[in-house]
Amino acid sequence: MTWKAVRIALLLVVLAVVASDAWFERARSVSWRVTFDVAVYPIAADDSPATRAYIATLGHAALAPVEVFFRDAARAYGVPLAEPVHLGLQPPLATPPPAPPADPGPLGALWWHLRMRVYAAGIHGAGPAPHVRLFVLYHDPAQSPRVPHSLALRKGQIGLVHAFAHDDLEGSNDVVIAHELLHVFGASDKYDPATNAPRFPEGYGEPELLPRYPQRLAEIMAGRRAMSATEFETPVSLADCVIGPATAAEIHWARP
Ligand SMILES: [Zn+2]
Repeated sequence: MTWKAVRIALLLVVLAVVASDAWFERARSVSWRVTFDVAVYPIAADDSPATRAYIATLGHAALAPVEVFFRDAARAYGVPLAEPVHLGLQPPLATPPPAPPADPGPLGALWWHLRMRVYAAGIHGAGPAPHVRLFVLYHDPAQSPRVPHSLALRKGQIGLVHAFAHDDLEGSNDVVIAHELLHVFGASDKYDPATNAPRFPEGYGEPELLPRYPQRLAEIMAGRRAMSATEFETPVSLADCVIGPATAAEIHWARP
């Protein structure tokens, strides 16, 4: 085969994989008739002893607020599931997932998507395969006061979360985990990427609040609550976040 034929064959394989993903995603993610089983894989993002010590003591309690958040929000929207999302903590992974390209063109993004899927497929746990795999890269906040952006592959049911290896920051880690999971379920961002400003009204936790500022709650897909028209604050825990009606509609929840 010529190089050109090889490339065309490769692209056809890629298209077939993406198309089958899209089909499974539609068939599976919209029903909310069964609990979404999310496998959470902790990974040390640096070689700090503090990160390793944190991961060694990490338990389900650190993730439980995410389950409670989805449970309470689902109930408010009349979703008849006692546990819409279950997070199962898995043993830590030694090999980090492939890093996303710094400047992904469409092909670069597709290539990374495939590498992530190959990476995820190579991980076998006990029991049935989870619906979603969430890779959580823990950083020592003393070394990395800021971490890279987290992201999710909706097609492929994979999330890549950057989190802090510190008890005091578990609340904000949970906010990022819930945000990326909602992307996997089909929700879109509700902030202006140029300014981080929550979009009004869909990115506001309480758009009808008078006076409008300060907002007491953050809409989870906006990621911040507006303290004024120009100041935005990152919530410290999911207790300060809500799933707004626009996000609920995107994940096929509707008020009764
Ligand atoms: Zn997002």
